[in-house]
Amino acid sequence: MKLDATSDDFRAAGHKLIDWIADYIGGIDSYDVLSRVQPGDVAKQFADAPSREGRDYDALIADFKSKILPGITHWNHPSFFAYFSITGSQAGILGELLTAALNANGMLWKTSPALTELETVTLAWLRDALGLPKNLFGIINDTASINSYLALAAAREHLGLGIRAHGMTGRDLPPLRVYCSEHAHSSIDKAALALGFGMTGIVKIETDEQFRMKPDALERAIARDREAGARPCAIVATTGTTSIASIDPVKAIGAIAQREGAWLHVDAAYGGSATVCPEFRYIWDGIEFADSIVVNPHKWLFTPIDCSVLYTRKPDVLKETFSLVAEYLKTTDTAEINYMDYGLQLGRRFRALKLWFVLEHYGLHHIQSVIRQHVDFAARLAAELRAKPNVELLTQSLSVVVFRLRDGDDATMQLMEQMNATGRLFVSHTKLRGQYAIRVALGNGATEWRHVEQILSFL
Ligand SMILES: *Cc1c(COP(=O)(O)O)cnc(C)c1O
Repeated sequence: MKLDATSDDFRAAGHKLIDWIADYIGGIDSYDVLSRVQPGDVAKQFADAPSREGRDYDALIADFKSKILPGITHWNHPSFFAYFSITGSQAGILGELLTAALNANGMLWKTSPALTELETVTLAWLRDALGLPKNLFGIINDTASINSYLALAAAREHLGLGIRAHGMTGRDLPPLRVYCSEHAHSSIDKAALALGFGMTGIVKIETDEQFRMKPDALERAIARDREAGARPCAIVATTGTTSIASIDPVKAIGAIAQREGAWLHVDAAYGGSATVCPEFRYIWDGIEFADSIVVNPHKWLFTPIDCSVLYTRKPDVLKETFSLVAEYLKTTDTAEINYMDYGLQLGRRFRALKLWFVLEHYGLHHIQSVIRQHVDFAARLAAELRAKPNVELLTQSLSVVVFRLRDGDDATMQLMEQMNATGRLFVSHTKLRGQYAIRVALGNGATEWRHVEQILSFL
């Protein structure tokens, strides 16, 4: 008994769905950005168990539209300005479709040579497109959170304390420290927690008036920790922080990392994509010091989630940290890359295919123009906000703008709720120096000035 008797139903439903997707993308402006359902509203429409005899695709598509779609917040909406705006681009969606169709698992080179080789090729293209050093090895994983975890695991192994062999407990080890700015992403804390550094092992360094890590404060923290017998393991610089897109001074931090023998990890999950435009490569000043770098094409490079790239100039360390080859996975070839050796996962999706579709279909020139336009819109919004007497512009960096009302936290919070309640746009908030602020992040490939301009109409 075959699961699918023929591919006829698939073909018919597939055509309908592609038509639906094209209409969805083309008409997304007509949707409210934020879903308005209440907790449980979606779940209660579904039966206790799936159908016994099966239902045809038309019935499923009808359910998708009536039961599921109302519970979707439209991340692909050009007025989605919350968190980090992302894009399920048309090229990216087609790439995902083929990935699903092939269902290839790239654990080893030989389990799908093209999967591994296209990953190597696209990541070399991307490295060059971002103006990164040539000596970087790249690997795709699902998220920046996982990539930073892998980088910090490599950093821990790089200490030469035999942690792979002997673990961290029941032995004589100095306390290990990971340094990052007070604005670093929580994924750094999570990685450090999972790797056994503990909360006391994560040292948050204060930032300057532009929210950038202060190198002198970093030096003082390391000196204080060394004095107390602790050992610096890694320093994480963020180029494009989540809250305000501030840019840590990689060069000064890198020099300190080198002197202290600590691993330098650069978290450019959001900001890295901007460097496809040469004028934004200032965020890489000092990048040659970086032992590892994370960039998310699924954030600001028009690639559907998930696709996060980890670059490292020390792939051998990453491999020493994770390589563990069971007998059934042993291969006789030694020339090829088996990406399973460079991380936790065994099974690996063919994520390079959508990245290849995006890079090759749009071309670097067009991608640059769209990113440049996002930054231009952000600068224009910032200029308009600065001119409003009731508004305090807190910062604009790359495509992120943060502002508050001079009337205080409550008024600012109310303004945000008022904006989001219209359904026409979605902004999120942050807290800067204890003050509530509205945060606007541009990054969707369909965003035009008329979408951004809506914000001004509330002020
Ligand atoms: C978004 C973001 C992350 C987390 O990204 P995921 O891919 O969702 O794990 C990490 N660091 C920075 C700076 C980010 O902006």
